[in-house]
Amino acid sequence: MTDVWMEACPFCRIVRGQTDTRILYQDDLVTAFPDIRPIAPLHFLIVPNVHLESVNAVEAGHEAALGRMFTVARRLAETYHVTQSGYRLIVNTGPHAGQSVFHLHMHFIAGRHMPFRA
Ligand code: 5GP
Ligand code: ZN
Repeated sequence: MTDVWMEACPFCRIVRGQTDTRILYQDDLVTAFPDIRPIAPLHFLIVPNVHLESVNAVEAGHEAALGRMFTVARRLAETYHVTQSGYRLIVNTGPHAGQSVFHLHMHFIAGRHMPFRA
């Protein structure tokens, strides 16, 4: 991955604190922040701090960050009181899934019924 691409990547910029995006959570492995175009009352993105284009770039060495993304999802659910009402975690990969930002991210979506079934 070239430095030029990481300069331009919107999520790398957020991870590095180079935007005014509100950071909900950050540690050495992952960062969580609100989606700029929310589709539900609660719509957050959880990303690995390392730039990975998509799930297609995942290797065993990334498992700590990928696992941390789920731990942070659980923590966000608790913080926003949707543990019982429920939430949806989505990782879009490639054109058919409609991936539009090529830094791997998990959508955390909650606060309304989601009629579409996977
Ligand atoms: P995808 O379609 O790739 O799974 O989702 C990308 C998501 O990133 C979209 O929901 C979009 O609204 C969000 N997004 C794109 N650019 C930015 C940005 O600069 N800041 C934030 N917070 N969200 C963004
Ligand atoms: Zn990136």
